[in-house]
Parts: sequence; C-alpha cells; structure tokens
Amino acid sequence: MKCRKCGERAAIKLYQHNLSLCREHFCEFVEERVKKAIHDFCMFEKEEKILVVISGGKDSLALSYILNKLGYSVSLLYIDLGIDEYSDNSRKFCEEFARKFALSLKIISLREEWGKGIRAFCCQTYKSICSLCGLVKRYYFNKVAYEEGFDVVATGHNLDDMVSALLSNLLGWRTSYLVKQLPLLPEEGRLKKKAKPLIYLTERETAAYAFLSGISFLREECPYSRDASFLRMKHLLNEVERSSPGTKFSFYRGFLEKRHLFQEQEEKVDLKDCLLCGFPSLLEICSFCKTFRKEEVKNAGKI
Ligand code: SF4
Ligand code: ZN
Ligand code: ZN
Repeated sequence: MKCRKCGERAAIKLYQHNLSLCREHFCEFVEERVKKAIHDFCMFEKEEKILVVISGGKDSLALSYILNKLGYSVSLLYIDLGIDEYSDNSRKFCEEFARKFALSLKIISLREEWGKGIRAFCCQTYKSICSLCGLVKRYYFNKVAYEEGFDVVATGHNLDDMVSALLSNLLGWRTSYLVKQLPLLPEEGRLKKKAKPLIYLTERETAAYAFLSGISFLREECPYSRDASFLRMKHLLNEVERSSPGTKFSFYRGFLEKRHLFQEQEEKVDLKDCLLCGFPSLLEICSFCKTFRKEEVKNAGKI
C-alpha cells in the first residue's frame, strides 16, 4: 500500500476517501480537515483566546496539539472528576502534555473544590453519573471561559461523537437536542461560543493522528463508559460505516442541510440568571447549584 501523494509506504488507508497516505501526508490531511472546519463554520480567528477542554484522551490532546501547531492562542482546562484511578491517570497525561508543549493548564478538581468525587454527588441526586458529568463539565468550562476572558471554548468532539448523539436523539425524537448538534454554538450572555474543530474527522483518524504525532494519551476508558448509550450508537454506526464507507459523514452533512426542518420545533425558553452563580438557568437556581450548593439553596429558602 503506497501513499497516493508521494509513493512512500502508506501508514493508513482512509476508506471513505479511498485514499492511502504516509505518516507525513496523513498528518497534513488531518490538519487541513481541522483548518477547513474552522473556516467553514467561522469558528474563531488567530487573535481569539481559546480554552480547550482536555481529558487526557486522544481527541482533546490531538486538538490542542493541532491548534497550537497552527498558531492559535490555546490554554487548557482539565476537570478532575475524582473517578478513582481513571481520573488520576487522565490528569497525569494532561499535565505531561501541557509540560511537553509549554501550554498553560488549569485544573479544577471536584475533590479539592467540594471534598468528594462525582460519584458521591450522583448518589444524592436523580441523575445518572454521565448526565451529572456533562453538567459539571459544562458548568466549569463556561465559568472559566467567562471569568478568565476567553473568547471560545473548544472541545475534542469528533464526527463519531456527533453522529452517535444525532442518531440517539433521532431515535428518541428529541428535536430540541437535535437542533443543537452543531459544530459551532454562538455566544449567549455569559456563555462563550463553543466550537468542535474535529467535526470532519472520525475517531479512527484522530487516534491515528495522535499516535503518529507522538502524543502520549490515555487509552483507558472511563469505567462508566461500559453502560453509556453513546457507545452502543458508535458500535452500530461503525458497522454501517464498514459496509458503506462515508455514511457517517453524509449522515452529518445531511443533518446540517436539513436542520431547518427541526428548527421550528426548537423550544424557545426564557433563561434566567441563577440566583447563586449567575449563570443561565431554566429555573431560579441552576442544576449545578442545586446539586453542589445544597446548603446555600436551603438558606435561600429555595428548597
Ligand atoms: Fe463522564 Fe464519559 Fe465517564 Fe460518563 S463515561 S462519567 S460521560 S467521562
Ligand atoms: Zn506521502
Ligand atoms: Zn447556579
């Protein structure tokens, strides 16, 4: 198998593009896909301050590496959820990455902030650990981006993440979630814009890029991912992609073209400022404060 660009030995075959590439040309291909996503969706400019949320995994570290290489102003945020060894290990990969590439890294630890890991809060609430995890991450990246003057929050969601969320929301006809599966969400009040520059790349491509670029990343999965429904969707879509390469991409592109069909059903909600933290909330007190600031909520007479 030879690289189509230079004739050297190919490192990877990209079935959906019917393209074999050597290490150098594959890395160039990936970086071009990121540049194209940033350009196509007007995600951000060179002078904007970007906060990249990292987990120690291949996607978020590959994204930070590429944005830094392309000359963007990148700072990293790691949220330590206190999930036993998994969090300790992922934190080490983030610290090592930041050191190696001389990038600033802010760490927020639930155990340091609230005395306990995420599981303890999960037991006190009705939420599953994954939905609580999403809530915690969203709260902290919005807070840090707002308080520290970032222009945009970038996350390492790849094409597989987007199409699995899309399929899951389609199967449940959750149209209000469907319309939000976008590569760029605009700034809204205290919420800075959110960008997903890996949207044109599959999980296989980001993993290969991280490996071929010499990025050390955590290969261990979160212990709670075994029960996570998005993984079942990913397996299903991988099966389809194997027999029809390019399906994931055409599914997502089709959604972007037809998104207006669901737009009307987008629930118009009036967000208020949470009485305790000031961030946008459906109710007087946001879900984060209800879960983590129970005493204050009680004192405010809101329970
Ligand atoms: Fe969070 Fe993912 Fe682990 Fe669920 S599987 S707890 S969403 S890191
Ligand atoms: Zn080549
Ligand atoms: Zn709040």
